[in-house]
Amino acid sequence: MCGIVGYIGKKQAMPILLDGLKKLEYRGYDSSGVAIFDKTTKTFKSVGKIKELEKKIGNKNVTGSIGIAHTRWATHGKPSKANAHPHSDCTGKFQVVHNGIIENYAELKEKLKKKGHKFCSQTDTEVIPHLIEDLYKGDLAKTLKEVLHIIKGAYGLVVFSEKEPKKLFVARCGSPLVIGVGEGETVIASDVSAILQYTKKVVYLEDGEMAEITMEGYRVFDASSNLVQKNIEDVKWDIEEVSKKGFEHFMLKEIFEQPKSLKDTFGGRISIEDGRAKLGGLNEVSDRLRDIERIIIVACGTAWHAGLIGEYMLEEYAGIPVEVEWASEFRYRNPILDKKTAVIAISQSGETADTLAGIREAKNKGALILGVVNSVGSTIARETDAGIYNHIGPEVSVASTKAFTSQVAILALMTVFLGRQRRMSLVMGQRILSELKELPKRVEEFLQDNNVEEIAKRYYKVKDFAFLGRKYCQPLASEGALKLKEISYIHAEGFPSGEMKHGSIALIDKKFPSFFIAPKDSVKDLKKLLMK
Ligand code: GLU
Repeated sequence: MCGIVGYIGKKQAMPILLDGLKKLEYRGYDSSGVAIFDKTTKTFKSVGKIKELEKKIGNKNVTGSIGIAHTRWATHGKPSKANAHPHSDCTGKFQVVHNGIIENYAELKEKLKKKGHKFCSQTDTEVIPHLIEDLYKGDLAKTLKEVLHIIKGAYGLVVFSEKEPKKLFVARCGSPLVIGVGEGETVIASDVSAILQYTKKVVYLEDGEMAEITMEGYRVFDASSNLVQKNIEDVKWDIEEVSKKGFEHFMLKEIFEQPKSLKDTFGGRISIEDGRAKLGGLNEVSDRLRDIERIIIVACGTAWHAGLIGEYMLEEYAGIPVEVEWASEFRYRNPILDKKTAVIAISQSGETADTLAGIREAKNKGALILGVVNSVGSTIARETDAGIYNHIGPEVSVASTKAFTSQVAILALMTVFLGRQRRMSLVMGQRILSELKELPKRVEEFLQDNNVEEIAKRYYKVKDFAFLGRKYCQPLASEGALKLKEISYIHAEGFPSGEMKHGSIALIDKKFPSFFIAPKDSVKDLKKLLMK
């Protein structure tokens, strides 16, 4: 699911829309497009980078103070100009940008074709403008509500029609959309980073909601068409935080932010004197947590690896049995849950669809739902019973770094919090917290003095790589492998150190390096034995 930006106000929309798309570039995309209205609707689309779209627009003086824009990551139909959004109906009067997948598009397309609708793309999205055209009787809000009852799947969408040119309509189901409320202007986006420059006052749409947006403001409706009173939230992030600040790319910037992000994660939460972690977000459920007999951590990708490290810590120091589940699997099976189970959802964005579906299922079964989330006000943050924010500012890089270390740090704090409710002594609480407090400084030292570049220069041409570690370093090894795959396109696997000899070692030769993560920890001596 990629990027959406919409603007309605008094300013020229084009620079705002293009700038917004650039802010969302980090999510990856294959093509982009924009539609602007000024007496007529002008649409530009291009495959490739936004620079290509800008070239298409060239010096043409495209005026207009209302428009919608999109970066597409193709799910249905190849990346091509014809498949890029916005998509339109037969008359060209209705424009739609869409993130997500319309699952019943094939049957809808068939029906619409039989009625004479002509399709120009291979996308699932294109059924939406045609459906609107088919049902429109002079009231776009009403038509869109009907359409939302017909389409099935996941969507964040924005609709514009020159038949009602002073409005934009947005709807959300499983794909985030945020309304930025400015003075005499409204900016809509799939992610706050595209809005921050214009306003920090935002309204998050919930699944099933749609909104009518005008220059003056917005009206939000639920799935039954009732008007919903929404809270306007203040985004605490600065526009500064979503710029590269001289770094070559966001991932590098965020790696170097870790001393600060860890400090911010710990801020006000470490109380060495009484050996306790002060987690205000858990206060309300503190009594219930005392009775919890089992924890299930639900997460995806990097957050799942953070969860595995949490499992080791929570079992060892808090004495609570923990299971870590891939959210995408958890949601599809029938997990056994009860009131004495706490489910911890870990998600940087707070919008991870699989994790969200997982906690909804768990909530329904009576479990206590906790969140470890970075994005304040995000869907997961809102749907959990209680939780802890990372407080590390936006993580722009899709490959997570500072959020990962912050998630592990929070799980360490939770271990102390829950451990001290149980068997953990004051002295042990103090020891762990004192070590945690030192962590930002240690990370700082490491970032200043390491031989990462040297290692990279030596190995960047290899095709396969193994990461190995024991205990806490075992999930870390898997996380290392995930990063190498995702960022360097090198096949990599993470193994528990002791597991390699049970088969996988057959793969190892001179061209298949192994990277051991072996700090001076409680299993150091075992490692010595293993490496003999
Ligand atoms: N399913 C739509 C398409 O393939 C939207 C993809 C996206 O989220 O960018 O065009």
